[in-house]
Amino acid sequence: MQILDGKVVSQAIRDELKISVAQLVAEGRKIPHLAAVLVGNNGASETYVAAKVKACAEIGYKSTMVRLEEEITENKLLAVIEELNGDYEVDGILVQLPLPAHISDENVINAISPSKDVDGFHPVNIGRMVQGLPSFVPATPYGIMLLLEHYKVATKGMNAVVIGRSNIVGRPVSILLSNNSAPGNCTVTLCHSHTKNLESICLQADLIVAALGKPEFLVAEMVKEGAVVIDVGITRVNDTSKKSGFTLKGDVHFNSVAPKCSYITPVPGGVGPMTIAALMKNTFLACQQNS
Ligand code: NAD
Repeated sequence: MQILDGKVVSQAIRDELKISVAQLVAEGRKIPHLAAVLVGNNGASETYVAAKVKACAEIGYKSTMVRLEEEITENKLLAVIEELNGDYEVDGILVQLPLPAHISDENVINAISPSKDVDGFHPVNIGRMVQGLPSFVPATPYGIMLLLEHYKVATKGMNAVVIGRSNIVGRPVSILLSNNSAPGNCTVTLCHSHTKNLESICLQADLIVAALGKPEFLVAEMVKEGAVVIDVGITRVNDTSKKSGFTLKGDVHFNSVAPKCSYITPVPGGVGPMTIAALMKNTFLACQQNS
C-alpha cells in the first residue's frame, strides 16, 4: 500500500509555481493576483480561505481578502463581484462556499467572469471541461487528477466508482476520470444517495473516490483488494481531547481500508492540500491568459 501524499505533491507544485513567479518578477511582468471573497464567519470557510491566502503569499502571488458580513444582500455581493471582474489587477476570483442561505450560490457563481473563475464552477468552464476543451477545472477534482498523475497511477481501463454527485466534486471527477486522457480512460459509475447496492458496486471498483461528506462511510467490506481509494471528505467531528474541540474525519475508514489498497489518500494531508495547489495553478493560468 502506498500513501498518495497530497502534502508533498502540493508543495512540489507550489515550489514550481514559486520559480515561475520569480521569473515573471525578473521579466517585469504581471504577478498573479487572487481575490478571495468570504461572506460571514463560518469557521471551516475561514480556515480554507486563510490557507489559500497563505499559499498565495508563499508562492509570491498577490492576494486580496474581501470580507463581507453575513447579512450582506445578494445584490451587494453581486456588485462586489462585478467590481472584481472589471479590475485588471485581479486575475482570479473565488467566492468561498457555502454562502448564507439568503444568497443564491448559482447567481453568484454565474456572475464571476469565466476568465477569472479559478474555482472552475462557472457553467462556461464546466461546459468546456465536459467537452474536453481548455478550461479552469474545479480545484478539488483537478487536484485529484494531479495527484494520480504524480504517482503515475495507471487508471486506463479501470472501473472507477465516484460516491457523491455534487457540482464541485463528484460530478466533475466522474467526467475527468472518463476522459480520453491520462489519468482518465476509466469506466465510471457515479453513485449518490439514491444508489442501490452501493456496497456491491464499490466491490467491483478498481478506483473509488469517496466524496459524500459522511465520516468513515467507506469501510473495508466495500473495498476490493488492490483498489485505489481517494478520500475527499472533510468533516469536523466533535473531539473534546483536542484544543480546537474537533477532529477532521474523511469519508473513508482509513485503518480498515488502507491495508487492502494499492494506493490511498490520508485525511488530512491528501486531497485537501491538492485542492490548494490546483487553485494556485488555475490562478497562474488566469494571469497568463489575462495579461
Ligand atoms: P455535497 O453535500 O454537496 O454532496 C454530497 C453527495 O454525496 C451528494 O451528491 C449525495 O447524493 C451523496 N451522498 C450522500 N449520502 C450518500 C450515501 N449514503 N450514499 C451515496 N451517496 C451519498 O458534498 P460536497 O460538497 O461534494 O463535499 C463532499 C465532501 O467532500 C464533504 O465532506 C466536503 O467537506 C468535502 N470536500 C473536501 C474538499 C477538499 O479540498 N478536500 C473540497 C470540497 C469538498
